[in-house]
Amino acid sequence: MDSQDVQGVGGQGRGEQDAAPGPTPREPVDVLVVGAGFAGLYALHRLRGSGLTVRVLDAPESPGGTWAANRYPGARCDVQSFDYSFSFDEALQQEWSWSERYAAQGEILDYLRHVVDRFDLARDIESSTRVLSAVFDQATDEWELTTDRGETHRSRFVVMATGCLSVPRPPDIPGLGRFRGRWVHTADWPREGLDLTGLRVGLIGTGSSGVQFATAAAGVAGELLVFQRSPNYVLPAQNRPMDPEFERELKARYAEHRALAKQTTRGYPVPAYAGQKAALTTPAEERQEIFEAIWEHGGPVFTSVFTDLTVDEAANETAAEFVRQKIRQIVTDPVTAELLCPYDHPLGTRRPVLDTGYYPIFNRDDVTLVDVRTAPITEITPAGVRTTEAEYELDVIVFATGYDAMTGALLAMDIRGLDGVSLREEWADGPAAYLGVAMAGFPNLFTVTGPGSPSVLTNMVASIEQHVEWISDLVEHAHATGTRRIEAEPADQNRWVQHVLDRAEATLLPKANSWWTGANVPGKPRVFMPYVGGYAPYGQVLAEVSRDGYTGFSLTR
Ligand code: NAP
Repeated sequence: MDSQDVQGVGGQGRGEQDAAPGPTPREPVDVLVVGAGFAGLYALHRLRGSGLTVRVLDAPESPGGTWAANRYPGARCDVQSFDYSFSFDEALQQEWSWSERYAAQGEILDYLRHVVDRFDLARDIESSTRVLSAVFDQATDEWELTTDRGETHRSRFVVMATGCLSVPRPPDIPGLGRFRGRWVHTADWPREGLDLTGLRVGLIGTGSSGVQFATAAAGVAGELLVFQRSPNYVLPAQNRPMDPEFERELKARYAEHRALAKQTTRGYPVPAYAGQKAALTTPAEERQEIFEAIWEHGGPVFTSVFTDLTVDEAANETAAEFVRQKIRQIVTDPVTAELLCPYDHPLGTRRPVLDTGYYPIFNRDDVTLVDVRTAPITEITPAGVRTTEAEYELDVIVFATGYDAMTGALLAMDIRGLDGVSLREEWADGPAAYLGVAMAGFPNLFTVTGPGSPSVLTNMVASIEQHVEWISDLVEHAHATGTRRIEAEPADQNRWVQHVLDRAEATLLPKANSWWTGANVPGKPRVFMPYVGGYAPYGQVLAEVSRDGYTGFSLTR
């Protein structure tokens, strides 16, 4: 999406205008997979390996999911590269080399292209194909998917690998259409690039995307204005080039490292001293030393360095104040420093933002922080951005305004289960899914890292592998036993949904306005969507369910 394609945001496909009347049916397959990011690619490989026929339908013009879309300057993963990668194939992880501790977008996309080639995936992926609807046919126990190419696809099973952060939130600020300059959303950066050299650039949004963009754009743009509504706690990634000695040593024990990761709550190991003590019972001096150590270590593990940070507000405040002190030390102008300090939510109750030099950019003469909490943005004018206090002239506006997360991509499609019931209606008060993987009333349809699973609170690639393997095993089991219909039981689903809510309520996490709770999208039901139980404990639940003959599912032959 850019200023030439305002309609593009929010999942509207071109084909709604183009679709020919009377869709053309395609050859049925065993499994249809929607999406070709990490999840869809692995689902294709894994299911195809079981002898099933699989077709992947993917809206973008080429595979890669979020890593193909987020081409904005500075885009980088906030999980270490050697963890944020597939573990299912030893040869793959041995042959691939990451150049940095945290991989940049381009390198992750190269990796995924390599995966596509290595496992010969492209022949079963149909790009530039947006699924508009998915309808369950009760007579045949099959799904029929209609695409914006004017075709229908049928299969017994459907795997929705549509991503948790794949539907960008369009800027909801009046006047955008009148802006004379160029505007872009970080999640839909122009493929041909956008040269910001010497331009006056305004950035709206200071979450992970905005912070990364600002850090990269400072010094390139002639002037950068950062419009901040809510400050976030920005933690250092401590990114660095991959040390060849470390890489050799890691690869010598990669399988062991992955096995260890599988026993963690995050889907990757944390330093040994993390999570051993409670902040409130640790003497202040020692607590400070531990905060300093984890700050130097870098990464999102900061929020689990003490056991009580996410459950006790007083404990959390010790960490929050540590970060505020760092901000005050780094940013020389005390007014700007104070504006950058978050006070409105406990640390870690919104997704922690990782940086590689964000706070220092505010010491530059060509970077200005504009506080749009006290003086909100009222409109986009032909010249730039107007707040209640001033108008700011701009050549380019960059929106890093986030996503309709976790449910957005699923609800962008018209999904209809038993008796034509629509998922949009079923989820009108918030998402409900059994184990975050299947929905009662929508047989044979599975979601990878769906709401109610640990997903975005963990290393996504690890959670994707966990889900894809479990779903594939279930589909293989159904295929082998002649099972036509797999359906989550409503009572078991209700129990799981309550468990997910109870676990979240026992923490501070639902307290903030975040995309985890849907609070960032006006009108979206406020429900804490991911499961806080952790990657490994959740994996045990999945394992028990399958070992006991898929408890909570009815399997009909
Ligand atoms: P986000 O965290 O939802 O941030 C959106 C930002 O836009 C917030 O600062 C929000 O302010 C602001 N905003 C929205 N509408 C606004 C308006 N009308 N006026 C002023 N400000 C407005 O979105 P994101 O940064 O794209 O990140 C989403 C998630 O994607 C991350 O949490 C992370 O999980 C993932 N991600 C990861 C990486 C990485 O791996 N490093 C990079 C990018 C994204 P308020 O807070 O006041 O609403």
